[in-house]
Amino acid sequence: MLKLDFHPSGRHFLQIPGPSPVPDRILRAMSYPTIDHRGPEFGALGLNVLDGIKRIFKTQQPVVIYPASGTGAWEAALVNTLSAGDAVLMYETGHFATLWKKMAESLGLKPEFLGLPGIEGWRRGVQADMIESRLRADSQHAIKAVCVVHNETSTGVTSDIAAVRRAIDAAGHPALLMVDTISGLASADYRHDEWGVDVTVSGSQKGLMLPPGISFNAVSEKARAASKRATLPRSFWGWDEIIDMNRNGYWPYTPNTNLLYGLAESLEMIEEEGLDNVFARHQRLAEACRRAVRAWGLEIQCADPAVYSPVLTGVTMPDGIDADAVRKLIYERFDMSLGTGLGKLKGRMFRIGHLGDCNDLTLLATLAGCEMGLRLAGVPLASSGLPDAMAWLMEQSNDTPLKVAA
Ligand code: PLP
Repeated sequence: MLKLDFHPSGRHFLQIPGPSPVPDRILRAMSYPTIDHRGPEFGALGLNVLDGIKRIFKTQQPVVIYPASGTGAWEAALVNTLSAGDAVLMYETGHFATLWKKMAESLGLKPEFLGLPGIEGWRRGVQADMIESRLRADSQHAIKAVCVVHNETSTGVTSDIAAVRRAIDAAGHPALLMVDTISGLASADYRHDEWGVDVTVSGSQKGLMLPPGISFNAVSEKARAASKRATLPRSFWGWDEIIDMNRNGYWPYTPNTNLLYGLAESLEMIEEEGLDNVFARHQRLAEACRRAVRAWGLEIQCADPAVYSPVLTGVTMPDGIDADAVRKLIYERFDMSLGTGLGKLKGRMFRIGHLGDCNDLTLLATLAGCEMGLRLAGVPLASSGLPDAMAWLMEQSNDTPLKVAA
């Protein structure tokens, strides 16, 4: 048997920006026996999660749940709504936006990649005015969809989706709006209906605190109407049959039963805390993290404070320092995983995840591990980051106790 219990004492610190640590409560819920996916108990479970997940997306419209990683849900969004050769306007915020564009190409679509030049585009959010001008120039309405990433996990930049909606409307353009919030959902404020998003793509292993393995498409009426005309081949990903069977809580194939137990538990946990409190907790922890990075004298990858990600912080290394060597040292000495630099940022930065099941002390221990690792790796630091992070957390501490002592 593969030996996975080789960890030293204490818990591993999984501080990558997803998969995020899975709380014991969810692990326990997932350990219930697998049941008949056509039986009566399953229907009740299915209806529970299909209804609950809508509140997280802030939508009244169907949310399709796939037994797939986020990449599958990306593909589902494209193949359900588009036809071969369709022009798609995609915005380059980072590595994940780039991967989604590559997928569009491989499916036979014609993506146009818009964005700020060079690395600048990987430091700022979507520039809605650029989308508006491009759509205004498309007087024949050849562009069928605008695709953007809400929380760019490779950089730690969140984009203003409402502004993208306004840009599309200002241009009077009928393109669909498709948004990837795979790492934003249940961590950063997100409003599928209010922001007029046609397809929102998300996944389980980030803010929902579940293992990887389920992903989502929230679907507007306009997207469903487009799916009637779209001709890209689709079978497993097709929305109609799934949405039809979901009415009674079932799926046309064998769904991911134990992950759905986990999802039911996750929804309960999020609702107990309150979605807005979850968002506020993420914002508070993210600011503490940034204060530590600034005190270290290191640069934050996101260059625009208005769009700092509440999910993760990208920490840029001084010239000559290999960020992956720092990560390796931290992993080996302190049993903590940090996110690697992706694509254009390989070796230039590492990413600290502060999402999902994370609290003040989780974050402070994470920052302590980073700081010790940076020093041991010979990275010159201006000062310790912990005092600033702690001062912020104390200043912003909530009077409502997390627990009540006897
Ligand atoms: N989009 C974003 C923003 C992501 O963060 C990820 C994964 O981290 C993906 C897409 C791809 O999702 P998955 O790895 O679950 O297929």
